[in-house]
Amino acid sequence: MPRKRFDLTFPPRQATKPVTYHLVKDFDLVPNILRAQIQPGQEGRMLLELTGRKEDFEAGVAFLEKEGIIVQPAATDIRLDEDACVLCGLCTAVCRPGALTLDADAGLHFDKDKCVYCEACVVACPRRAVTLSF
Ligand code: SF4
Ligand code: SF4
Repeated sequence: MPRKRFDLTFPPRQATKPVTYHLVKDFDLVPNILRAQIQPGQEGRMLLELTGRKEDFEAGVAFLEKEGIIVQPAATDIRLDEDACVLCGLCTAVCRPGALTLDADAGLHFDKDKCVYCEACVVACPRRAVTLSF
């Protein structure tokens, strides 16, 4: 079954609405919340992975947009600029899922399966050597 990741931005009035429940019940989609920053009365962000059929994705996304939620495709990879990287390890220190690791011999290693695209490494890198790719 196909999977897609979406970056959702909730307007303050919609921040606590149970939209993932509706995605399951009304659109047959299986949601997996990879990251969320939601506070009542404030703009919220969510990185959501959905599993389902193509036509259900389209209907589910249309439902979210009708609810006033901004839906954008989420990053699907990160890009490392090896020329810019000085192997300082700062990005590995902030990578909670352990997707970035530094090895004395092999250098910087990225495990795509562990990445939740939180952007912490992008912010932490003093050399701007990490960028998200869509
Ligand atoms: S985006 Fe987040 S999870 Fe992915 S490699 Fe960077 S810090 Fe780790
Ligand atoms: S923080 Fe930047 S320069 Fe340092 S190891 Fe990570 S990618 Fe390389």
